[in-house]
Amino acid sequence: MFDTLRNRYALNCPETGERALVPVSAFRVVRRLRGATSPAVFRVEFDCPCGTRHEALVAHDLLDWAPLGTDSSETFTNLATGRRELVAVELLEQATTHLRKGSWPWTFWCHPESALRPGFPSSLRFVSPEHDHGTGQVGVLVRCFSCQRHTVNIVSTDHLDVPWHNDDKIAYVAQVFDRDAVAPEERFRHQLEDGPARLRWLRDVG
Ligand SMILES: [Zn+2]
Ligand SMILES: [Zn+2]
Repeated sequence: MFDTLRNRYALNCPETGERALVPVSAFRVVRRLRGATSPAVFRVEFDCPCGTRHEALVAHDLLDWAPLGTDSSETFTNLATGRRELVAVELLEQATTHLRKGSWPWTFWCHPESALRPGFPSSLRFVSPEHDHGTGQVGVLVRCFSCQRHTVNIVSTDHLDVPWHNDDKIAYVAQVFDRDAVAPEERFRHQLEDGPARLRWLRDVG
């Protein structure tokens, strides 16, 4: 389940036995489960509001499409008409307008291609906690939608949590990630700590 008004996934918390509301920026590791194809299923490790890290299995449509809210059955009161209306209708219009303008719900920088590429929550491999990186920013390892190669991006939590919200600039680590024998998680930490982060202004490259 996805709460489109708060941009949070409702995932099971084994500590409280209830559903916790979890934003994309609280994901830590996302891995595709081998074997599951229709739908694809992802194993998501996340930092729960209860203070513990848990794991959840999330189907592809929930992970990538539910945040766009176009299938949502939630309603809101339209202040202009005073009527209850479907959130989905509003969000579908919003999505159509954005796509027509050539923008995507999530955008990341692909270093091997030197280009902005669309992404999805399922494109993330690792997400570093906000407090690791200072003010409101998180490091992510993203698998490129187009070339399948990986780049470390440094973005705001809103860039991850709010579909269609794009930071004005994205910092990235100008190192190729894939050609290395080091375990991916360890390499991700190294690149975040040591990599010369370069800035790309989305307005300039978009
Ligand atoms: Zn929990
Ligand atoms: Zn690419």
